[in-house]
Formats: sequence, structure tokens, C-alpha cells
Amino acid sequence: MTETRRTTSGHEGLAFEEPLSFEIGSPDKTAVDLPRLPDGTRQHADGTLGGLRRQGPIGLTGLSEPEVVRHYLRLSQKNFSIDSGFYPLGSCTMKHNPRLNEKLARMPGLGDLHPLQPVATVQGALELMDLVAHWLKTLTGMPAVALSPGAGAHGELVGLMTIRGALEARGDARRRILVPESAHGTNPATAVACGYTVEAIPANARGRVDLKALKAALSDDVAGVMVTNPNTCGLFETDVMEIAAAVHAVGAFFYCDGANFNSIVGRVRTGDLGIDCMHINLHKTFSTPHGGGGPGSGPVVLSAALAPFAPLPWVVHGPDGFVLAEHADDTGGDPVGRVKGFHGQFGMFIRALGYMMSMGADGLHQASADAVLNANYLLARLKDVMSASFDGPCMHEVLFDDRFLKNTGVSTLDFAKALLDEGFHPMTVYFPLVVHGAMLIEPTESESKETLDSFIATMRALAERAGKGDVDFFHEAPRFTPRRRLDETKAARSPVLRWRPPAVDQAAE
Ligand SMILES: *Cc1c(COP(=O)(O)O)cnc(C)c1O
Repeated sequence: MTETRRTTSGHEGLAFEEPLSFEIGSPDKTAVDLPRLPDGTRQHADGTLGGLRRQGPIGLTGLSEPEVVRHYLRLSQKNFSIDSGFYPLGSCTMKHNPRLNEKLARMPGLGDLHPLQPVATVQGALELMDLVAHWLKTLTGMPAVALSPGAGAHGELVGLMTIRGALEARGDARRRILVPESAHGTNPATAVACGYTVEAIPANARGRVDLKALKAALSDDVAGVMVTNPNTCGLFETDVMEIAAAVHAVGAFFYCDGANFNSIVGRVRTGDLGIDCMHINLHKTFSTPHGGGGPGSGPVVLSAALAPFAPLPWVVHGPDGFVLAEHADDTGGDPVGRVKGFHGQFGMFIRALGYMMSMGADGLHQASADAVLNANYLLARLKDVMSASFDGPCMHEVLFDDRFLKNTGVSTLDFAKALLDEGFHPMTVYFPLVVHGAMLIEPTESESKETLDSFIATMRALAERAGKGDVDFFHEAPRFTPRRRLDETKAARSPVLRWRPPAVDQAAE
């Protein structure tokens, strides 16, 4: 299966070539020893169950327990994760997930709760949600928060739904949403999913929203703007308060994409900037595991004007303790409905609260400073050999483009592939779209200077190699990964998701 087998077995040292379970197992094997049936007969893999006989093969593979254990362990070892190495994926905040949070989330009193338990038996859990809400409201200076959205993009949708709710409640069905060009793809997608038309606002030469262009596009049919701050170029939107004033002057709402909150948490309060709503990715800023490794969570903080439209359920303080407002009639508001089963990602609330409380206010204040410091350290140590896209310091992530690779025959993609061979997860490439061949690097505050120095040394060596025109080296990368260059477009467009037995394939041909 490997392109060039260098060993007889296909394994290379301790890097195993692992076939699918269907390819290593056989239907007549099983890891379970089933007891005899009441009539004394045995259940057989040959298709008999008591007096019943299977009509045809069911196509399941069979493995013994040690084979199962090895198969899944080996697959898991192919994952690159924040626990295995440096993961400077810009816009993703791949920081360390403290093990304390995992321990808290697994405590039986929390982990074994059932969402349908009577409210009187889960007062502690509701208090925990109330406390998470308290921290998020305090850190953002906003009066309300909807906890239930299941990810950042989901939070965006809920935020826009509350904006639409508020506008429609005043009989003002506006149609347009303005989104800067540098926005994450989820922003325009969310606006369209919510029934709006999207207009792109260009960036200025400083990598910020072009204020003049934004003002020119504003009118009384604009429902809102969606601005990411700090933005996806890793820069603070210095005109943010003027943007808010201009947006409010035409009766529109200011949505802030708060995915980059990690760089300002404990230092800048969203509410003070004139923002009406903002989602917070608990899996970025508050160190809960990211999507693929566990459910995300994207609470949305809301201004007083938008709070009545928040989705259900709400935790409220009743006379005899905490209660859940689960029906529109209980709320005194006009909620946009329910957006998630039960209460949202409760396990993530536990982890995020564990993080916030163990860090403390001073710790969060320090973390955002360190995140920004680490990114600026990379900028300072790399800008003489790579091309920084914008002048001046950055926030928590640093953006380079491919001008330093000009005329070398090496592309941003080649550069990223070469990093794989060096044991680093590549940075985000080709995003944001506002610069050519983007390389967006986010080290986060949880990396040591030693790790950053080793990354810097590697990046400098690669940049030098590209400068010398060693094109073959880059075009052949990666050399040491289980698979080399994949046809990524084909993998995304026509993924093969189902294994078929070879015989079936032949019959179909
Ligand atoms: C991560 C991110 C999102 C989306 O968040 P998900 O939790 O992945 O849905 C939106 N905007 C920006 C700028 C992001 O970095």
C-alpha cells in the first residue's frame, strides 16, 4: 500500500501500516464468547442462532480482543494532536487542555447526570451553568449570554437569529449583512443561512476593515455587520468603536466574531466596544477540546436589546433555587426557539469553568498577554527571512504571505508539507484570503520558549533552503509521513467512505 515499500512487512520501525479492520479480520472470528442459548444450542458465527439460520452473510468482520486493541491503538497513534506536538494552526487556538478540567468533567456527580433529571436534583449543575454565564458576562461586560450553541458557527447563527428577532419585533425586516473580506468562511455562510444577502467590505492597507467603504455600504436596510476582532489577520480593529457608532446610527446591529477572544480576554470588554452580540468559542479561549476531539461549545453574549430573543432554555434564579425557563411563556421574552438538545454542551461548561476558576482573573489577564507575546516573538524572529503581511506588532497570531517564496518555485503548500517532515503541524495556509499564499501562525500562550525556538530554527532553515532554489526537496515533501502528497481536492470532493469487499467490486464491473 505504501508507494515505495522499504520493509517486507510494510511497517517502518514502530510506524505501523494499518489496514482496515475489514481487511485484517474474518467473519468467523469473534472477541466474545457467547453463552449457550436456553435450548442448549450455541450461537455460531456460521449463521445459526438457536433454531434460526442466517440467509446470507452480514458482512461484519471479526477480530480477537488483542487484534481490536492493537487496531484502534495504532489508528489513534496516527493522529497528530496538541498532546503530541506543536500545533500552530492560526485562527484555531490549539492550546493545552489542562488535565484538571478533564478530571472535573468526569466527576460522577457531574458526569453521571441525566439531562431529564428533575430540576430539584440538579441544582449544583444549574448553579455551575449560572457561574459559567457569570464569568462570560463579566469578562465581556455584556448583560446576557445564551449558553446552548454547540460551536462558534452555531453561535454566529444564534446571534444573527436574535438580531433578526429584534428587527422583526420592531417591524423592520432588513435584508443585508456586511462582512469584511478577511472574515472566516462561517460568517457569510451564517448570514446566508439566516436568510440575508451578504456584501463584502474590503480591507485597508493596514489589514483592518476599510472604514470608508463600510460607511459607504451602510444604510437603513442593513441588518448588521459581522466583524472579527481581533481580526483574522491577527490585528486589533483599531476603528472598532467608530464602526459600532456608524452601525448603530443606521439602526443596525454589530455582531462580533469572538473566536479570537483569547488575545484580549481579561483586558478588553466586548460591551465597552459597542458590540451587540459575540460568540465565544469555549474550545479556543477556555481550553476545552476542539470539535474532532470532543464537542465544541459557542455561547453568545448579548446586549440588553437582544437578550429577550435568546434561545431556550435559560437558567433563572427562582424563589426555591435555580429553575430552567423552557417555554417562551416562562421567559417574559420572545426567544428564537431552541437550538440544541437539552442545555447545550454541559461537559464543556464544566471544563471551561474549571479553566476560568483555576486560572483566576489574574491568570486570564496573564494568558492573553503571553499569547500575544509568543506570536510577536515569532514575528520578530522570522520577519527577516519570511514576508510579514502587515507592519507593526500583531495580536495572538502572526500572518505571513508568500512574497518571500517568489521565483523560488516553492509554494505555501510545499512549505507546509516540508514542516510535516520536521514534526510540526503546519500553520493555517491560504487563509485569510486577503493576502496571497497566506501562512497564519498562532503559537498560543501554552508553548514554551524552547518549543518556539525549535520551530523558529526549522522555519528559518526551510526559508533558507527555499531561497537557495532547492525545489525538489520541497516538491517531494512530506517524505516521512504514512502517506505522501495526497490529492486533497479529490479526497474532499469524492471521499471513499465505505469499504466494499473486493468480490462485490468485481461483480459490479
Ligand atoms: C474557529 C472560528 C469560527 C468557527 O468556530 P467553530 O467553533 O469552528 O464553528 C468562526 N470564526 C473564526 C474567526 C474562527 O477562528
